Amino acid sequence: MQPFTYFISDLHLCAQRPDISQCLFDFLQTQAIKAEALYVLGDLFEAWIGDDDNSEFNLSIATAFKTLADKGIPLYFIHGNRDFLIRKTFAQQAGMTLLPEQYVINLYGTPTLIMHGDELCTRDVVYQKFRRKARGWWWPRLVLSLPLSTRRKIAENGRKTSQKNHAKLSMEIMDVSPEEVIKVMAQNQVTQLIHGHTHRPAIHEISVNGQRAKRIVLGDWYDQGSILKVSRDQLQLLNQQFNA
Ligand code: MN
Repeated sequence: MQPFTYFISDLHLCAQRPDISQCLFDFLQTQAIKAEALYVLGDLFEAWIGDDDNSEFNLSIATAFKTLADKGIPLYFIHGNRDFLIRKTFAQQAGMTLLPEQYVINLYGTPTLIMHGDELCTRDVVYQKFRRKARGWWWPRLVLSLPLSTRRKIAENGRKTSQKNHAKLSMEIMDVSPEEVIKVMAQNQVTQLIHGHTHRPAIHEISVNGQRAKRIVLGDWYDQGSILKVSRDQLQLLNQQFNA
């Protein structure tokens, strides 16, 4: 068997969906253990209120990743728009290396840009404005300085509102701007891009400044685990089924 690397994103893990967590545990124990590396490209969690939130649930997820890391599988994490407050403390607990929001890796000879992908949805002007603030220096500091109980309340209210208000989901529904994709790929001098966020799994053949290129989109984990498996010769979008 050829060496291969896995990419996942948009699991949106939360205590209310143990079936998703179980699917992840199965994937880590039976599949990821055979990989050369595992990249988690954001929105691992539905919400993240701070590394000091030592809930049993969060610890169970950290432990599952750490077990894999301890077996020698390198684990990498890029923040999503739901869990951008993950810091070094959690990353260390989970045995993961935090990567910058856009990162170029050499994927079996192909320079490949990896990211969560929310920054590609430039048509959502309101969100991009929030993103600049949320990824800046003062906003996270301010939020993380609030008592944990306050942050928990804010997150809980946010969850209730987003359940009631479908319009709040428009950010996830909105697709990437094709011009932005080309711009970002050209800037990074790559012909391969892997991202999540849009929940529209696909391998798109595109052209970047006259060169053949690929944009690979990871799927979410709402109904099954969406997994990208890459080896030297093959790119495969796979699904890991939930166990009943
Ligand atoms: Mn997202």
